[in-house]
Amino acid sequence: MDPMNAAHGRFVLTAPLSGPVVPLASVPDPVFAEGLFGDGIGIDPLEGRMVAPCDGTVTHLARTGHAVTLQTAEGAEVLVHIGIDTVELNGDGFTARVEQGAQVRRGDLLIEFDVDAIACRAPSLVSVVAIANSDAFEVVGRAEAGDVRAGVTPLLALRARGAATEVVATEAVAVSSVETEARRSVTLSHAGGLHARPAARAREAARGFDARVEVRYRDRNAAVESIVGLLALGAAQGATIELVGIGRDAQKAIDAVADELTREAAGEANETPARQLSPAPGAVRQAGEPLPPNTLAGVCAAPGVAVGALVRWDDAELAPPELASGTSAAESRLLDNAIASVDAELNSSVRAASQRGAIGEAGIFTMHRVLLEDPTLIDAARDLISLGKSAGFAWRDAIRTQIAVLGQVDDPLLAERAADLRDIEKRVLRALGYAGTTARALPDEAVLAADEFTPSDLATLDRSRVTALVMARGGATSHAAIIARQAGIPALVAVGDALHAIPEGTQIVVDASAGRIEYAPSALDIERARLERSRLAGVREANRRTSQLAVATRDGRAIEVAANIATLDDASIAVENGADAVGLLRTELLFIHRQAAPSVEEHRQSYQSIVDTLAGRTAIIRTLDVGADKEVDYLTLPPEPNPALGLRGIRLAQVRPDLLDDQLRGLLAVQPAGAVRILLPMVTDVGELVRLRERIDAFARELGRADAIEVGVMIEVPSAALLADQLARHADFLSIGTNDLTQYTLAMDRCQANLAAQADGLHPAVLRLVDATVQGAQKHGKWVGVCGALAGDPLAVPLLVGLGVTELSVDPVSVPTVKARVRNLDYQLCRQRAQDALALESAQSVRAASREIWPLD
Ligand code: PEP
Ligand code: MG
Repeated sequence: MDPMNAAHGRFVLTAPLSGPVVPLASVPDPVFAEGLFGDGIGIDPLEGRMVAPCDGTVTHLARTGHAVTLQTAEGAEVLVHIGIDTVELNGDGFTARVEQGAQVRRGDLLIEFDVDAIACRAPSLVSVVAIANSDAFEVVGRAEAGDVRAGVTPLLALRARGAATEVVATEAVAVSSVETEARRSVTLSHAGGLHARPAARAREAARGFDARVEVRYRDRNAAVESIVGLLALGAAQGATIELVGIGRDAQKAIDAVADELTREAAGEANETPARQLSPAPGAVRQAGEPLPPNTLAGVCAAPGVAVGALVRWDDAELAPPELASGTSAAESRLLDNAIASVDAELNSSVRAASQRGAIGEAGIFTMHRVLLEDPTLIDAARDLISLGKSAGFAWRDAIRTQIAVLGQVDDPLLAERAADLRDIEKRVLRALGYAGTTARALPDEAVLAADEFTPSDLATLDRSRVTALVMARGGATSHAAIIARQAGIPALVAVGDALHAIPEGTQIVVDASAGRIEYAPSALDIERARLERSRLAGVREANRRTSQLAVATRDGRAIEVAANIATLDDASIAVENGADAVGLLRTELLFIHRQAAPSVEEHRQSYQSIVDTLAGRTAIIRTLDVGADKEVDYLTLPPEPNPALGLRGIRLAQVRPDLLDDQLRGLLAVQPAGAVRILLPMVTDVGELVRLRERIDAFARELGRADAIEVGVMIEVPSAALLADQLARHADFLSIGTNDLTQYTLAMDRCQANLAAQADGLHPAVLRLVDATVQGAQKHGKWVGVCGALAGDPLAVPLLVGLGVTELSVDPVSVPTVKARVRNLDYQLCRQRAQDALALESAQSVRAASREIWPLD
């Protein structure tokens, strides 16, 4: 049988160029020769004309005119590339005779080129015809060695993979109806119109049919496979779009797409209201209360008021160079590899989220995978690469162009898609190795915006220029929030994706205490915010004047106000602000940038310098609390389906006892002996404490330490609060970590933006556990502190004091405010009212009651 015969479902490409055939393996470029662009064949052209090898659509035309990709009616993507490394000629010698998007017939002239000029300047004129989607189509016949004639000689025979049997049976139909075209109009009834989910479903519906489907609306059209193309049509609810199918199954394909688009989608109704531009998750608290224009709601992570220009931090980090350092083929390969690795990463996120039952989250990552293979983005990036741009630059530009297109469509839901695009932009750039930390010059007053800051992002900030931090996601007790509070930078979390729609450089007023940001404010609003800011600064200054003094309530109950710190600098700030002690040193943050775990001596030195800075004040040093949302490079924990409930805190010693041992030895070596107390995180029962105490005592003996070191337990798991009396028997003190205690009591992820407003430590259930802890400790005459964020919340301070807590450990800059608050309290009143609060039904009622009894400044 003649392999080039167009039968049995095969279809034939005729030669696009005239000249001798060159086997693919002999093409003088390993990228082509090894089939990295797909299976195919070479031709050494003798004439300067490239014609269409088949009927099809020009899906890509390099701007330099040296390469073209056609899509056949069957769906094969045929790349014809003239010469080797001819992109370097920047278009010299090539004249395109067709436009991208054009429908062409076999033999139509596509490109003219100057054979002699190109032969002198390029490494080779050998050209390649390759099937870019060789995973879907196989080459079943090739022209033999010898000359082929453009538009005349059959060159390659192709067949869809896996379709052989079916194709043989339907051969007659396939041949006769291959060019069938079908059209159908559809009116979109979905709320939101052709937004991402229906677009993704339409794309899925069209899969598996032997037809191309295009969606037309007004003067725009998009291939159904391109989600970004479909979104950019801007077809809103009520719009009538036209579906055009071309190919054997044209009618079936457009019917399937139409059915999807007219079907009432399950869960669809939920998407629109929950994801509108303005009502961010943090706005839950303001339910029923409409937001003023140009205002977004969030959840306060660090109080204060600030004014500044919006700077997108996510963008600041990743700045790929414009020009490629290698050949275009090499850059293309880099991009492909990066996309493949991000795809694999997203795939495991989808699986992990599904296992956890986090269906919404799994859906988001699935959508990101779809965007990642979007032909509109990939073609645009390849186009730029063929112009000599680097893979990173090309990818970023392709994404930004698409974001700009979406920006022209008047649909708030598209703001969210822009955020998705930004997300995959970042992921791919990171996979390309552009996770650099190059600091970008910030304006004097910068409001930094990000999806979510990581602790390491914040560690590199120029804090003198940052007036506020705003995050689309995140929770008020996330570690980024903690760091912001420690730095005294007002911060807002859970603002929602609408944050990403605010243009870079826009003036912003952040009222973190009120949970609001106002963008493009009037001059009056800015003035008002500045005044409020200086009023607050005045109050802070007044509080600072007395902050070095010890503090007691009006009726004489002494309360220690300590500081939570993470660095040596924090220790100085704590001292300046009048902290009586350090109530919590989060050692994992001290070593967060390390590539290797710290040695015993490094531990000792770090703690020693903090103790020296504290000049006689004691420091409670918590052993490493890594895991869950606190990751460190030097410790790669096995992936866990639910890290917050996995190997974190003291449980880490189960897998890496060496890490804890080194830390304990370092801690015990600090001088003077009484300056340090040890705090153990995430303890769940007394057995853990007893075992660890024995270990600590053994190390102390090794070091020849005579005096015992004090060991405390964090109460941050409900079981520990309930068993506080047992723990207090063996511990010297208890310190309540209300961040985790709230998370585990209310079963609300502390980093989950949607729950940020509800995950409130003033919930009566959490307060009852605080009460139980104090009662348990009192049985053994032990003291109780609070080192979670609740200790610095002015509405919580009177209640915690009233429940019997005697140490409040807060962010260093909050020390003066908390001391001032304590000075104005009456302990007896606090006791009574705290007991009343335990009987209330919600955190809101507790807050309201507290505000009523102890009004804020
Ligand atoms: C807490 O959980 O309240 C706490 C102080 O520990 P961290 O925030 O570091 O988990
Ligand atoms: Mg904790």
